[in-house]
Amino acid sequence: MGGSRSMIFADCSSSTTARLIPFGRSRLLCGGGALCARRRLHVGVGPSLPASLRTTLTVHSSPSPSLPVMNVSCSATMASEASAKVIDGKAVAKQIRDEITGEVSRMKDAIGVVPGLAVILVGDRKDSATYVRNKKKACQSVGINSFEVHLPEDTSEQEVLKHISVFNDDPSVHGILVQLPLPCHIDEQSILNAVSMEKDVDGFHPLNIGRLAMRGREPLFIPCTPKGCIELLHRYGFDIKGKRAVVIGRSNIVGMPAALLLQREDATVSIVHSRTKNPEEITRQADIIISAVGQPNMVRGSWIKPGAVIIDVGINPVEDAKSPRGYRLVGDVCYKEACEVASAITPVPGGVGPMTIAMLLSNTLTSAKRVHNFQ
Ligand code: NDP
Repeated sequence: MGGSRSMIFADCSSSTTARLIPFGRSRLLCGGGALCARRRLHVGVGPSLPASLRTTLTVHSSPSPSLPVMNVSCSATMASEASAKVIDGKAVAKQIRDEITGEVSRMKDAIGVVPGLAVILVGDRKDSATYVRNKKKACQSVGINSFEVHLPEDTSEQEVLKHISVFNDDPSVHGILVQLPLPCHIDEQSILNAVSMEKDVDGFHPLNIGRLAMRGREPLFIPCTPKGCIELLHRYGFDIKGKRAVVIGRSNIVGMPAALLLQREDATVSIVHSRTKNPEEITRQADIIISAVGQPNMVRGSWIKPGAVIIDVGINPVEDAKSPRGYRLVGDVCYKEACEVASAITPVPGGVGPMTIAMLLSNTLTSAKRVHNFQ
């Protein structure tokens, strides 16, 4: 999502729905959606998936024309009661937002500065407009100023770059997000690269990612979703140092930075991806699992080492006739089975989703503090 991936929603259940469904849809729509959709399904039924899942993965008509809703069964077959602790991302995110509110107010009282977040939206996509609206609301709720530029679909790349440049030079703006996806005639990479590294609150600038990867270097910002995963581990007091961690997924926005962060915390990290030959075996060695794949219920109980801690980033719509919407959201991890094996797990929704927004607000506050040397 580049900027757009740091969606902001005050309420966790609505946040994950509103945030990630259109987000998935956006991927399917932009740049040849049908191809993307086919690829995603193909990956899902590929050789790295257990046979049990392969047979049940089917795409049905979705609540929106381009949103695949999957019918993937995941039933607990083990007899024992669920025992894993639930890692409550919604509650932690609320606590963080309250802390941010206090800090924003302290800063304002002490030096008269209010942190500001600017969002650039190009085009008329309804989902993107919703995201931007919710970002504004989230900012308001903690006292951060929000600025928005809404440009028409046919805006040139040069024009977008001009607006970024204005925000780069504006001292009242401490964070800049460019809402993605951008119209296809605009090069996403050159737009994201144009955002000042000092205001890159999404943490996607190559220099910030590069610093994250290098020993002895500090990124100015850490991407919001992986940062939220680590924050959950910290706030629940789980040790990371010396543990074996497996990250499933290697995307630029979640999997890869999550692996880098775990490594910085002195975990021994393995990354599982779509070409990994023995994902189950590798994952079963992990004390900590972070899954960011986008395949419903892919990680089964048999993949999990007893006592492991699981952070499930995935948010996937699956068919549910009982739901008024016709679908519900599940993670990458079969929750019921995992609860019987793991020591702790994030629910979906209500786990990582609400943390993403909290981290975006936190990054904006950090940026303002840094610029004004405010401790
Ligand atoms: P991407 O599609 O960009 O990346 C998915 C990754 O999963 C890729 O690295 C891919 O491997 C890997 N993968 C795909 N299929 C398999 C498989 N069968 N076995 C092992 N690995 C596989 O997704 P994102 O990282 O953007 O998002 C992942 C999930 O997290 C989605 O459900 C998304 O909705 C959710 N999400 C949630 C957020 C939140 O705030 N809670 C924020 C962002 C995302 P390869 O590289 O080989 O293709």
